[in-house]
Amino acid sequence: MGQPAPVITSDVRVVFGANTRNTVAAELRKLNLSKALVLATPQQCDDALDIAEQLGSLAAGVFCKAAMHTPVDVTEAAMQHVTETSADCVVAIGGGSTTGLGKAIAYRTDLPQIVIPTTYAGSECTPILGQTENGVKTTLSDPKVLPEVIIYDSELVKTLPVPMTVTSALNAMAHAAEALYATDRTAETTALALDGLKAFVDGLPKVLEDPSDLEAREATQRGAWACGTVLGQVGMALHHKLCHTLGGSFDLPHAETHAIVLPHAIAYNARAVAKDLQPICDLLGGSNAGTALHNFAKAMNAPIALRELGLKKADLDRAAELATTKPYPNPQPVTREDIRALLQAAWAGDTPI
Ligand code: NAD
Repeated sequence: MGQPAPVITSDVRVVFGANTRNTVAAELRKLNLSKALVLATPQQCDDALDIAEQLGSLAAGVFCKAAMHTPVDVTEAAMQHVTETSADCVVAIGGGSTTGLGKAIAYRTDLPQIVIPTTYAGSECTPILGQTENGVKTTLSDPKVLPEVIIYDSELVKTLPVPMTVTSALNAMAHAAEALYATDRTAETTALALDGLKAFVDGLPKVLEDPSDLEAREATQRGAWACGTVLGQVGMALHHKLCHTLGGSFDLPHAETHAIVLPHAIAYNARAVAKDLQPICDLLGGSNAGTALHNFAKAMNAPIALRELGLKKADLDRAAELATTKPYPNPQPVTREDIRALLQAAWAGDTPI
């Protein structure tokens, strides 16, 4: 692994390597910042306190109430801390939920952000911000929510529990898989998507063998960066639409839902664009990209049935209805009947159809 290798992409500085979280103070000084509000979820508050301690007088405070789907009331509470502490930037340490809070603050204030991701969700690489208010999730895209610095410290992702490691990896792979048939894809986004997929196909089995293997963890973080970056550059289709519906309307957990739906959505679209999805077969073996992903997910002990997440069989009709009311571009035409059949298979944990 050697020295942490910084990667510069457009205006975002990206740093990889074990213990790179210890460089936050130096990054703040480079940006002429001196009052950081450190953000985390309640579960990762100790990590936030460690960062604040390391920052010393550069820390303005700690706010540990980040929550899934960026609830607006949590953002408003955090905004109060921003005002009270006169923070001049935020440091978000955690998964997509904490990154989302940092982005929501940046959207309202334009404050610079340093993000230290501890999952593979990839939100730190996208200009997309999803927010929830009164049970309704809306999504916007604005370049000002992109962070100034991303620090991928492999020591931090080492503590990601194995089941979350697997579902978060499949969440990242979903961004890359849908990028392969995005209508606005380019040769560059396809190459990046393939890099991301390969990083997980090679790296995830090694991480499962030894979750503290820092080299394998860093390889998967590089995969997360690649997958997140393509998510920010091209439009997503059926898979993301289904997961958005299942997360937003049935309160299913984000990464697990992605992990379960991915093989089914990809099998569905393989009917129309098998050639674009062939690289997935090349990486994983087999002749159908959806089945290949299903077998990979099973080999990684991923959850494979939506019913395991608490979705009721009686909800499938409404889920199919919600996921097909508004038309959106997708390689294989989306019909209510076909989506109902897809959801049935994903609910039961069947092989994709
Ligand atoms: P998360 O951030 O909600 O994390 C899940 C739980 O795991 C939290 O309790 C968290 O504190 C804990 N956790 C995270 N990393 C850990 C670690 N290394 N060790 C121990 N515990 C750890 O989950 P997520 O899947 O990373 O993010 C999901 C959220 O991100 C959703 O709200 C989703 O919509 C959003 N998201 C947004 C984008 C975007 O581009 N806007 C992209 C991907 C995900």
